[in-house]
Amino acid sequence: MSKEILGHIDCPACGTVKGMRITHDKNAEPFGFCEAECGQQLRIGGNPRRVQQFVKRHPWAGTVTAPTPAVKPVTVTPTAPPPAPKPVKKPVANPFDFLLHPKATA
Ligand SMILES: [Zn+2]
Repeated sequence: MSKEILGHIDCPACGTVKGMRITHDKNAEPFGFCEAECGQQLRIGGNPRRVQQFVKRHPWAGTVTAPTPAVKPVTVTPTAPPPAPKPVKKPVANPFDFLLHPKATA
């Protein structure tokens, strides 16, 4: 999983301006880590309201709330024309039919 850096905020711990980088955690929710010097970690996810407030302040941090599976783009698949009807073979008379169904001779 790639850690795409969404942006930076001021580190609340060491106070470095734009020192804390924000990435998405495994739940695709904002997660902060101070790159400047202190290594402070800031977990925003885990609380939808908190995430909402954070994203409200930092719109660039908002994208997804938990990846939604499925919902594939509807692609119209061209329907293949129905296969041409196979030429019906006329049943060939079994030349050995008389062996299988011997005429009852009395
Ligand atoms: Zn810091």
